[in-house]
Amino acid sequence: MTAKTFPGGIHPDYGKGPTAGKPVVRAAPPKTVVIPLHQHTGAPCEALVKAGDEVKMGQKIGDTGAFVSAPVHASVSGKVLAVEPRPHPAFGVSLAVVIESDGQDQLDPEIRPAGSLDTLDAAALRKVIREAGIVGMGGAAFPTAVKVAPPPNKKIDTVALNGAECEPYLTADHRVMLEQADDVVFGLRALMKACGAGQGLIAIEDNKPDAIEVIHKALGGAPDLQIIHLHTKYPQGSEKHLLKACLNREVPSGGLPLDVGVVVNNVATAAAVARAVRNGTPLYERVLTVTGGAVANPQNMLVRVGTSFGDLIEQCGGFAKPAGKVINGGPMMGIAQSSLDVPVTKGTSGILCLARGEVARDEAEACLKCGRCIDACPMYLMPLWISAYAERGKHEEAERLNALDCIECGCCSYVCPARRPLVQAIRLAKGEITARRRRQAQPAK
Ligand code: SF4
Ligand code: SF4
Repeated sequence: MTAKTFPGGIHPDYGKGPTAGKPVVRAAPPKTVVIPLHQHTGAPCEALVKAGDEVKMGQKIGDTGAFVSAPVHASVSGKVLAVEPRPHPAFGVSLAVVIESDGQDQLDPEIRPAGSLDTLDAAALRKVIREAGIVGMGGAAFPTAVKVAPPPNKKIDTVALNGAECEPYLTADHRVMLEQADDVVFGLRALMKACGAGQGLIAIEDNKPDAIEVIHKALGGAPDLQIIHLHTKYPQGSEKHLLKACLNREVPSGGLPLDVGVVVNNVATAAAVARAVRNGTPLYERVLTVTGGAVANPQNMLVRVGTSFGDLIEQCGGFAKPAGKVINGGPMMGIAQSSLDVPVTKGTSGILCLARGEVARDEAEACLKCGRCIDACPMYLMPLWISAYAERGKHEEAERLNALDCIECGCCSYVCPARRPLVQAIRLAKGEITARRRRQAQPAK
């Protein structure tokens, strides 16, 4: 099969070698976990427990009635020490439930298999997915139950699983496909049934031939499921580029995959859906990659939500070299951290610890008008002009140049010879434009 792709994009140094061939190891059970009540796109949860309460592993400890939300669950059994604001790797600070483990890992007795795919209808599956607190595990953390419940006027015909893992350094999805292929395929079928789609596909970049082979076998020749080989290129895993490459469908400006009849989920999310249906297991642990030139022994690890970054780095032998930057996620779209005292959340796909020599520290220079950022932009934008307007506070001009279509992939910053902080400026402009639109939409008082 010929590998498919999209115009634009870049070929960064992928840096996956240190962990791609390493099986997932289970991290040591944490003594204390800090579980943020906000781990998803949407409304934060409210605590269902208070200091002094005893909790079981898998017990729901936070929820909200908001539609775009997902409950959170205890990742250990033990005693709630506090419900208080704590540092968060993506949102700065979030209210969190702090639990001291009793070391017993006693499972919540309420946890039981939901049923079979034959007996559960679409509504029941969506309820299972919601109650298990499942969110997109590729980083965006959008609640999965909401994704598979499109409005009545949007017909979904395809569920696409994203196994591209185009972010450099990260290999967690690669290992999930190799080690949990049956769960991935079962989860795909569950997601298809939940949103009424007749076709399923799994898209994998061609730098993972072993995963392509294992998933191909797991699909078992089913006529409604297919595997798509993608050319290895960043940001191949962006939903819009994935759909263009796989199905030749273009998501309209400001639109979503459901506008072209598709729901996209990460392969690890599908595996989590499978465990929720088969065993009733909520999302309280995940596979992630701890890597980067600063880490002594990079690994793929199965980790409880709420474990601190510092704990996991220690379990990987600590820092062999001084760390120049620690990132929640990958180097292109991840978020730099100022402390290791932040917890793993459902959306933490990796902890990247770059050594000082791996971090570009040179000062930005004046734009050379070389146009490389335009050639690299997979959304056909003009990053140099949008960022220039953003830096001058001219957000209306940035909006006219379609700043809101920017997917914040970082390709423009990566190729810029003048090291201009393009994506940071565009991100700020997007925030200003969105805030202004929201203000304008509010009724006048
Ligand atoms: S402008 Fe946005 S979409 Fe285009 S390359 Fe830069 S970060 Fe990516
Ligand atoms: S790549 Fe950098 S230097 Fe070249 S045009 Fe874009 S912003 Fe200017």
